[in-house]
Amino acid sequence: MIVAIDGPAGAGKSTIARSLADRLGITYIDTGAMYRAVALWAIEANIDLDDPFRLEQLAKQARVEFAAPGNQVLLNGEDVTAKIREPRVSDAASKVAAVPGVRRAMRDEQRRIGTGQSLVMEGRDIGTVVFPDARVKIYLDAHPEARAQRRADEIGADVEEIAREMMERDTRDRTRAEAPLSQAPDAEYVDSTGLTLEQVEDAILKIIRARTSNGKSAT
Ligand code: C5P
Repeated sequence: MIVAIDGPAGAGKSTIARSLADRLGITYIDTGAMYRAVALWAIEANIDLDDPFRLEQLAKQARVEFAAPGNQVLLNGEDVTAKIREPRVSDAASKVAAVPGVRRAMRDEQRRIGTGQSLVMEGRDIGTVVFPDARVKIYLDAHPEARAQRRADEIGADVEEIAREMMERDTRDRTRAEAPLSQAPDAEYVDSTGLTLEQVEDAILKIIRARTSNGKSAT
């Protein structure tokens, strides 16, 4: 079973996806972390973010792993969990993610990870491009102010600055030519504004049951 969760930054995808995967006893994959790791490598290797050829090479060579128990992110064996959350990396990730060759490399790797195991995978194009046949697809959204506030609380930054940065990144993610952020026609829209984690999780579990039960009870 693949549970695909897409949506803009700060909608609560990571928290929900991790918690759902725990609850269902299946693997959680944060695809944003993969783009962030490639972006971090590009920054550290001084690669021009406008050079699609070099960026594609980097994406093909990058070895991104998720290590238990804390879901640490390893890039070529190095723990980059904290570094990839820096604002400069968020910005670079959405630039790197617009490069078609980078997306191809990430998509192939994500499909490989999804072969032969059940997982909750979250990102921007999981239900539309990576796993278009996923049985469960969620588009998780929230009002822009709520998304900025959530992110500001998480990282302890100024909410207006975060809102500006987020809007810029979302616009880039929504308007790029290759695999832009959009809701798949068969995805269920969930608005997390003003809801607790438990409420969002209950709503999604209901959708999962409805889509996987075929009239029988599941989970
Ligand atoms: O989800 P997160 O905010 O960590 O993702 C960082 C960036 O990676 C996004 O702004 C987006 O540009 C890119 N991304 C993507 N496709 C995905 C996941 C993330 O383009 N499936």
